[in-house]
This record gives sequence, structure tokens and C-alpha cells, in this order.
Amino acid sequence: MTDRKGELAANLAKVEERIATACAAAGRKRAEVTLIVVTKTYPASDVRILSDLGVRHVAENRDQDAAPKAAECADLPLVWHFVGQLQTNKVRSVLGYADLVQSVDRSRLVTALSKEAVRVGREIGCLIQVALDAEASGRGERGGVGPGGVAELADLVAGAPGLRLDGLMTVAPLAGEYAGREQAAFARLLDLSTDLRRTHPAANMVSAGMSADLEQAVAAGATHVRVGTSVLGVRPRLG
Ligand SMILES: *Cc1c(COP(=O)(O)O)cnc(C)c1O
Repeated sequence: MTDRKGELAANLAKVEERIATACAAAGRKRAEVTLIVVTKTYPASDVRILSDLGVRHVAENRDQDAAPKAAECADLPLVWHFVGQLQTNKVRSVLGYADLVQSVDRSRLVTALSKEAVRVGREIGCLIQVALDAEASGRGERGGVGPGGVAELADLVAGAPGLRLDGLMTVAPLAGEYAGREQAAFARLLDLSTDLRRTHPAANMVSAGMSADLEQAVAAGATHVRVGTSVLGVRPRLG
């Protein structure tokens, strides 16, 4: 085993242990939570190692970084999630590799994603990114739509050709009433998910929790955690 492979295997084992412990503490089955490894800023060689080690879900947040990496890894049995703020002029490139877009936060983006998904004949999974630091239906600092805008956007995605409404995503807010209160933020996301599933029962993905707060997310009921740093190491630059 190479040094890097050994390092990633050890880190993955630690993260796996954390998820298992959090599931046990919450009385949840381990199978209810899917690990998505956020590989942003790390090379394709790491993605290949992760795939060898059994990782099946990876996420990226910048198209410039992700597109060439995904192309180098096209032979691997991976599900690619796009989790970054997405400009409509990048939609064509992103749909060249992404299976799911977790950062859907405005109608113009829904229109662009739908048009491109239809053009290439693919079905793209979409999560509405919820900004818990945004007032009502406004937009968040780091993307996302306010809680008041979720229902309308969800209906739009559900009715858009080529798109599949899969659920909700959030990033624990750094500002506003939920700053420093990850558990409360994730509980709020779960409430929003319960509301959403009344009209869209299949949209049952709840993507929340990162390296620092995956336990709180699992406790709140997240179905997907997005972990970067704890698996790959501290990123050399902001990503
Ligand atoms: C970078 C990133 C993560 C992972 O964060 P870590 O703290 O490195 O685990 C999760 N979600 C999104 C949207 C990200 O951009």
C-alpha cells in the first residue's frame, strides 16, 4: 500500500467509526447514512485511491477543478455530486459529469439544468440548497434559498423535464440565529424535509454535516454527510 493509500484508509476508518457511533447514539441504522467524500482541491489520484478503498460517492464544488478530475476518473464506479454555487454558464460542463446537483437555489438555475439535462438525455438528481441564514425566501451568504422559498423551487424542479427532485441540502450557517447551533440548524432542515415530503414523498435525501459537525447531522436525521478534511486532510487553499 502506498503512503497516501494508507493515510486515506486510516482517515476513512476514523470517519466510518464516527458515523457508526453517531448512528448508534441516535438509534439509527448505519445504512441510513451515506458518506460523500468531498474531494475538492485534491487530485484525481486521490479520487482513484478512494474508489479502490470502497468510496462510492464523491463531491466537488468548483467546475474548473472538478471537470478535468472527473474526466480522468470516468472509468470509476462513482456517483458525482456537485455541491458548490453554480453559475448558469457552467451548467453544460457540470452536467458532463455530475449525477446530482445539491446546490439548486434559484429558478434560473432550474431552467438551465433542465434544458441541458434534456439536451444530453440524462436525468439529474437535484437537492434544494437551504440557506438557514437567509430571511424568509431571500438568498444566503454561501448560496441557498431561504426556508420560505423551498416549496416553490421544489415544485419547479419536480415539474422540470430531465430533473428529479431528491431532497434538501444545507451548510451550517456562520451567521444569523443558527450560528454556532449546528444541531438546531440541522433539526430545522429536517422539519423542512418533513414538509417537503408531504407533497414530494420521494424527495427524501437530507444532505447535512461536514467534518466538524457530522455527529450533529446524523443525530438530527441526515441521510447524507459530506466530509472533506477528515478524509483527505486540511486543504492547501480555500476551496
Ligand atoms: C468543502 C465542503 C464540504 C466538506 O467540508 P469539510 O469541512 O472539509 O469536511 C461539505 N459541503 C460543502 C458544500 C463543501 O463545500
